[in-house]
Amino acid sequence: MTINQTQTTPGRFGRFGGRYVAATLLNALEELEAAYEAAKADPDFHEEYHAILRDYVGRPSPLTFAERLSERVGSRVYLKREDLNHTGAHKINNTIGQGLLARRMGKRRIIAETGAGQHGVATATVAARLGLPCMVFMGVEDVRRQKLNVYRMKLLGAEVVPVEGLQGTLKDACDAAMRHWMGAYEDALYIFGSVAGPHPYPTMVRDFQRVIGDEAREQILAAEGRLPDRLIACVGGGANAMGLFYPFVGDSEVKLVGVEAAGHGIDTGLHSASICAGTYGVLDGTASLILQDEDGQVLPVHSVAAGLDYPGVGPEHAFMHEAGRATYTSVTDEQALAAFRTLAELEGIIPALESAHAVAQVLAMADELGEDEVVIVNISGRGDKDCEEVERLTRG
Ligand SMILES: *Cc1c(COP(=O)(O)O)cnc(C)c1O
Repeated sequence: MTINQTQTTPGRFGRFGGRYVAATLLNALEELEAAYEAAKADPDFHEEYHAILRDYVGRPSPLTFAERLSERVGSRVYLKREDLNHTGAHKINNTIGQGLLARRMGKRRIIAETGAGQHGVATATVAARLGLPCMVFMGVEDVRRQKLNVYRMKLLGAEVVPVEGLQGTLKDACDAAMRHWMGAYEDALYIFGSVAGPHPYPTMVRDFQRVIGDEAREQILAAEGRLPDRLIACVGGGANAMGLFYPFVGDSEVKLVGVEAAGHGIDTGLHSASICAGTYGVLDGTASLILQDEDGQVLPVHSVAAGLDYPGVGPEHAFMHEAGRATYTSVTDEQALAAFRTLAELEGIIPALESAHAVAQVLAMADELGEDEVVIVNISGRGDKDCEEVERLTRG
């Protein structure tokens, strides 16, 4: 959204965050913010949200001690198992929260954007459960690449709207969904998929995902009797990483490591490492670090993991990076593909290619890790969706 930008101050993280949108959208965001603040203060809302996470999603997700991976790495590695959630990833934690909010606000339908289709599926799932019609905007290129998820969304009763555009991918889908919402917000809620976008999304999505870190904290205290030394999670928009990190932000002894997609290598230009290689700018209504050229044109991005393929990142991550609270690294497609296989072979767990980036990072930093060091790696999703693609890429 680059036309008619209005800036207001809520939801800032240092020089990042905010709300850079057209005036019409400002009304929708203010209404959403007020409704979210009221829901947040209402114990009944929390009770219903957590009951659904328990009875429908299957939470708490386990924290699994990875014995053979620990041996390989030479420290104590635990896996937070978001792959075991209903629909196979962390995204459902957020869509349930926003879905309940839509119902509470009296909205009659739901809008969402999706890249690889994971957020679209998680949103369509919640919409079906709540009995609300759902429209999912998806780039034409992604519709072509992600046929299975398109079918799943349709099966769940959602309408999938193909979007043409620069690349026909996630960025174009976000623009189209926002544009549609602008004319329809009295009737519809836009369920956004990550800790990016205009305020209140970065804060609200973080709050709905922090259940990952809240559980992990309790689970690691029970297992080890102390806090972990390090948390590792992949970063696309940054939701699963923020969800794990946030409850530990005040514990300065816990190191936070976010892993971006280096694709074919940062120096090739074919990557999506917005923190490691990006610059200050505005994307999808928020100020953050983004991948852009000298004229501010958003650059094409690449990752073998479709869920990491985003030219921006949540503003709170950009802030934690500049403040030095978290460290951001990147791993290549090749490293992620190797880690995908390694986790399957060592632990009997096939991770999503996105999550395989976090696994690759713990393997890459083995030399730095002490023998008694306790590390939690977030397995943000399961890898069934990626098997066909990995088989194709590693054939021969
Ligand atoms: C969407 C997705 C991601 C990336 O999104 P974040 O907002 O960075 O969490 C990571 N892992 C899986 C399995 C996903 O589906």
